[in-house]
Amino acid sequence: MTANRKALSDLRQKIVWLREDRKRLEDSLFRPKKMIRASLAFLPNYCGKKDCRCKKGFPHGPYPYLSERRKEGKTRMTYVKKSDLYEIKAKAEEYARFQHGLARLTKINFKIRSLLEKIRDLNCREVDEYRGGRMTERKKASRSRRK
Ligand SMILES: [Zn+2]
Repeated sequence: MTANRKALSDLRQKIVWLREDRKRLEDSLFRPKKMIRASLAFLPNYCGKKDCRCKKGFPHGPYPYLSERRKEGKTRMTYVKKSDLYEIKAKAEEYARFQHGLARLTKINFKIRSLLEKIRDLNCREVDEYRGGRMTERKKASRSRRK
């Protein structure tokens, strides 16, 4: 095998593996469970009452909150009732898993793209090379005409 053919075959093999990764990833995102567009955070609470222990640095909680990123770039916190916690936690985890999967999909696609670009470059001739070749041919032609 020539060096070029070896390089092309290695590139193709890498793409085959990445496509397998992508297939698995896409399958895992295909039928997601129910989600909520937020993450769960446990935060301390300060009631503000005079003489309370939280005033002395011993806050209440921590309590569960949904941390939601709003369009304006602000974060809104929503208290989660204890009776909802189990369900909300599962939905927030599924959302995180899904978002993580989408980010990985972008990464895999980017890698495949850059490998395809390498395959293109190995199969691609520059116009300058073509011009160079044509010029020498023309010089040769004019030289033979002079004879
Ligand atoms: Zn307090």
